[in-house]
Amino acid sequence: MKNFPTSLLGQRVVVLGGGVSGTAALRLLKERQANAVLCNSQPVPDSDVPFVGEDVILADLLPIALIVKSPGISPSHSVLSQASSLAIPVVSEVELARAFYSGKLIGVTGTDGKSTTTSLSTHLVSSDFPGATAGGNIGLAFSDFCLKPIPLAVLELSSYQLEDSGPLELNVSVILNLASDHLERHKNLDNYFAAKTRIVDSSNSQHTLVTSSKLYRERIQKLGWSCKILVFGREVGNDAFISEEDRTIKTAKSVYDAKNFPLPGGHNLDNLAASILAAEAIGAKPENIQTLLGTFKGLPHRFQNAGKAAGISFINDSKSTNLHSMLAGLNTWKDKKGTFLILGGRPKAEPLEPLRDFLNSGIGWVLLIGEARATWESIISPILGSHLITANNLEEGFAEIKTAVRSGRARVSSVIFSPACASFDLYKNFEERGEHFLRLVSDWSKEEP
Ligand code: ADP
Repeated sequence: MKNFPTSLLGQRVVVLGGGVSGTAALRLLKERQANAVLCNSQPVPDSDVPFVGEDVILADLLPIALIVKSPGISPSHSVLSQASSLAIPVVSEVELARAFYSGKLIGVTGTDGKSTTTSLSTHLVSSDFPGATAGGNIGLAFSDFCLKPIPLAVLELSSYQLEDSGPLELNVSVILNLASDHLERHKNLDNYFAAKTRIVDSSNSQHTLVTSSKLYRERIQKLGWSCKILVFGREVGNDAFISEEDRTIKTAKSVYDAKNFPLPGGHNLDNLAASILAAEAIGAKPENIQTLLGTFKGLPHRFQNAGKAAGISFINDSKSTNLHSMLAGLNTWKDKKGTFLILGGRPKAEPLEPLRDFLNSGIGWVLLIGEARATWESIISPILGSHLITANNLEEGFAEIKTAVRSGRARVSSVIFSPACASFDLYKNFEERGEHFLRLVSDWSKEEP
C-alpha cells in the first residue's frame, strides 16, 4: 500500500504547508521520531520544528525520505517539481496518516453534503462503535487520529486531499454527488471526478462504495470496478430507496422511519440514505441506526434554523458556496413564493442556466449582494423585476428587506440565506458570514419579536 518507508525514525521528512493538516502531520512525525522540517511561507508559532521557506533548494537538504504535501498546496509548487527530479516520494497528509492508523475507516467525498454526511454517519455508528470520531477536512486532521486509539474514523475527504493520495484502503467510501466546483484547481469536471474516485479502492472486493444512483448511472458504472457498490436514490430497486412522501428509507436490512429526522430538505434525505448505507456496511445495527437518526443535531451554517423576527422564519445556509448546494435546499422548499432568498458573494465559475431555471420556478423575492451583482443582476432582474433588491453587503441588504417587509410590499414567511457563492469578497470564511447573518437576525428579533 505505501510508497514510502513506514519506519521514519531519524529520517528527514519535509512537510509542505503549515496549516491544519501540515501541523498535524508534524505532530505525528514527532511521535514517530522522524526528523521533520516545515516548508512554509512562515514558521508556525510556538513550534520548535526546523523551518525552511518555500523557495528552498531541496538538494541542499538531502537525504530526504519523504515529502508530505498539504491539500492547499498547488500541484505546480516548485518543491514538488524538485522532488520529482530527485525521485523523493511525495504523499498527502491523509496518506501519511493512513500508514499509522489501524482502526476501521469510512471516507466521505462529493461536491456538497460532505460535512453533514461525515458527522451524521459518525452519529449513526456511535452505539456500535463507541469512540467513533469524525475528522479529515472537518474537526481533527487524520494525522491526529494516529496519536490515540480510535476504533472507527469517519473522514471527510476533499478533492484537494484526494488529488495526490495513493490507495487509502478505506473499509467504506461514500461519493455523494458531483457538480461543477473547484474548477479553478481541477480545470474540468473529468479531472475533478478523477480526484474524487481516488477515495475508492476499486480492486478490493472487501471495499464498499456508497454513491447516488445518478452518479452511478452517469459515471461510475462505466468504470467496471470490482468493489461492492451500493446506491441511494428515489428509484425502486435502489439499495437505499428514499420515499419522500412517507419519509422512509428502505434498505435490504430495514425500513427506516425518517419522520423524526430533524434536518429539512430532500438533500438531507440523500445524506441520511448515504449515511445509513455506510453505517450498515461498517456493521452498525439497524435498530441502533433507527434510534440515533432522530437525535442528530445538524451542523451550523448548513440550512440551520436561525430563529424568527417579525413573524418571519430565518434559515442560515451560509455554507452554500455554489449553485448546486443552494438548489439542493431550495428546489425541495415548499413555499417558494413566500420566501426571500439572499444570494451573492464571489460567484464560482459555473454554468448559470440552473439559476435561471430555478428563478423561473417561482421564488418570491431575491436580495443580491457582493461581487455576484456584476454578473447575476442581469440574469435575475428580467425574471423578478421589482422583486429583486441589490445591496453592497448583508447589512445594507437587511435594511432593504426590513423596509420591504414593514411597508407590506414583501409578504414573506421565510428569509433563506443560501448565497450560492464563496464568501471571500466580504468575509474571511463562510462561518464568519453565517455568524454575521445570525447577528442581524437576532438584532431584528429584538426590534420586532
Ligand atoms: P460540504 O462539506 O461538502 O461543503 P456541507 O454538509 O457542509 O457539505 O453542506 C454544504 C452546503 O451544501 C450547504 O449549503 C448544504 O445545505 C448543502 N448540501 C448539504 N447536503 C447536500 C447534498 N446532498 N446535495 C447538495 N447540497 C447539499
